[in-house]
Amino acid sequence: MKEGPVSVAILTIGDEILYGQTLDTNSQWLSAELDTYGFSVVHRATVGDNEPDILQGLADAAARAGIILITGGLGPTADDLTKPCLANYFKVPLKANPAALEDLKALFRQINRELTETNIAQTNLPANAEPIPNKLGTAPGMWIADQGKIYVSMPGVPHEMKGMMTGYVIPRLQEEFHLPVVVHRVVKTIGIGESWLAEKIAPWEQKLPQNIGLAYLPSMGQVKLRLTMMGKDRQQLAKAINEQITALQPYAGKYIYGYDDDEIEQVVGRLLRQQNRTLGTAESCTGGYLAHLITSVAGSSDYFKGSIIAYANEVKEKQLGVNPATLAAHGAVSEATIKEMAVGVCRALGTDAGLATSGIAGPGGGTTEKPVGTIWIAVALGDQVKAKQLNLFKDRLLNIKTTAMATLAMLWRILAE
Ligand code: AMP
Ligand code: MG
Repeated sequence: MKEGPVSVAILTIGDEILYGQTLDTNSQWLSAELDTYGFSVVHRATVGDNEPDILQGLADAAARAGIILITGGLGPTADDLTKPCLANYFKVPLKANPAALEDLKALFRQINRELTETNIAQTNLPANAEPIPNKLGTAPGMWIADQGKIYVSMPGVPHEMKGMMTGYVIPRLQEEFHLPVVVHRVVKTIGIGESWLAEKIAPWEQKLPQNIGLAYLPSMGQVKLRLTMMGKDRQQLAKAINEQITALQPYAGKYIYGYDDDEIEQVVGRLLRQQNRTLGTAESCTGGYLAHLITSVAGSSDYFKGSIIAYANEVKEKQLGVNPATLAAHGAVSEATIKEMAVGVCRALGTDAGLATSGIAGPGGGTTEKPVGTIWIAVALGDQVKAKQLNLFKDRLLNIKTTAMATLAMLWRILAE
């Protein structure tokens, strides 16, 4: 059994990936899966369906890692070149593989179909390859050991590739390599930007032990801190990481809403349930996205009553009771209007808490006074109403999502305090 870090390179093959027509989800899935088993993915690349690029891709991957995982190019058609390229790369012929043919015959008996010549041709493999059974399709995978490295070729179809990885490749790799234990924990913060957070936690970060890796992962109003440790004993690693998370609290506790798989909409939901409070939303620029996030949490009917999508001023007035004079004096995107919207939805839906959004999501519709990205959000709770102005950028969908996050963050802070 081999010791030490086990490096993996991933090579995905397909013109459709390079053209941007197919998102390379195989690489992402493989990376995440391999990580949980303690493999180190050190290289990822995509090449098109042509021999020179595939040969170069194989050579590059082999120069970087001990295990080379390949997906794509295994179909029965002329544009699928992985097998002849592997044969060429290893300087071996393509040969009928009886074991692969038996597997395929068994699959066809199961689905009650006749084998075609094309199917039979799919069981011709490079002479040095062992077939990997494919329980979900007709193309067998291949396991090739060559000069101390392992090459695994799998179909591009994501569910076939995943079936092969979990059913065969991972268990076999685990037998051949001695893998370290990897522990990750993710600390989730909201309501503070990456650089401000980095400044606040600098004293903690400086004292962080060398063997704990720290990564900042920012996304839409949130910054996730990922702590990683490798070693032998899972419990010891988890304990060491948890001690650091405890030490982080005085610096960033105010911004931490959860850990690992927690999402802000779940955490807010938990707080509402604990506090026995109900919620409604009054949404202009988010157009229901906030309600979508809230209702994507199972059991949200315990606390969420509904949403009024008040896009037109007329709806703001009639359904939410916003005063026409407020709209005339300040406009729909203003502190005065957003506060009336948040209070109005509590009244209209009979909820304890109300969230409101109104802004210029873009890309058009801005003025010098209120440029695109000018957005007001508010939270009403009991007789308290808090409002805040956001100054975002020009991307409409991003603005909608960021606004929803900021509104949930505002509610979370009020509920948590
Ligand atoms: P192939 O094995 O090259 O015939 O791929 C079959 C199909 O799988 C393609 O048409 C794509 O839809 C899909 N596919 C191939 N490679 C990938 C990849 N890296 N990520 C996600 N889907 C893929
Ligand atoms: Mg292909």
